[in-house]
Amino acid sequence: MTYLTGTQPLKDGCIFCSALATPEDDHKTFILHRGAHCFVILNLYPYNNGHLMIVPLDHVESIENMSTDAVTEMMTLSQHCVGVLRKAYNPHAFNIGINIGAAAGAGVPGHVHLHIVPRWNGDTNFMPVISNTRVIPELIDETYKRLRELW
Ligand SMILES: [Zn+2]
Repeated sequence: MTYLTGTQPLKDGCIFCSALATPEDDHKTFILHRGAHCFVILNLYPYNNGHLMIVPLDHVESIENMSTDAVTEMMTLSQHCVGVLRKAYNPHAFNIGINIGAAAGAGVPGHVHLHIVPRWNGDTNFMPVISNTRVIPELIDETYKRLRELW
């Protein structure tokens, strides 16, 4: 609804770099955690409730441009994210993956990111299939508060 009513401002350039540039606004850009090499941010247009993304601090377009330390932190953060999401939502399963390049479906093709998507049995219903519409049962501010408390 926030998206439909236009109260979420669209930013120029890279959404990840612009979110990183304003640490005082982490509660508005929904940055959950800032690490030494990567950060964790909620997806504003989630596939499911609790859809997280792990993003390198550096604006690089693919994993081969990341340092070994950054790749290692991306994976250790994914472990932590899965643990936090299990406590928060008790999902049945997870999808974890990276789309590299626009043709692969990357929403922010210039800045590589790892998706962590919690899944529940039966969560793909007629809405995304028929009308390309997703039903997200919790507002993103509530998701942010819940995951921050568990982080
Ligand atoms: Zn960027």
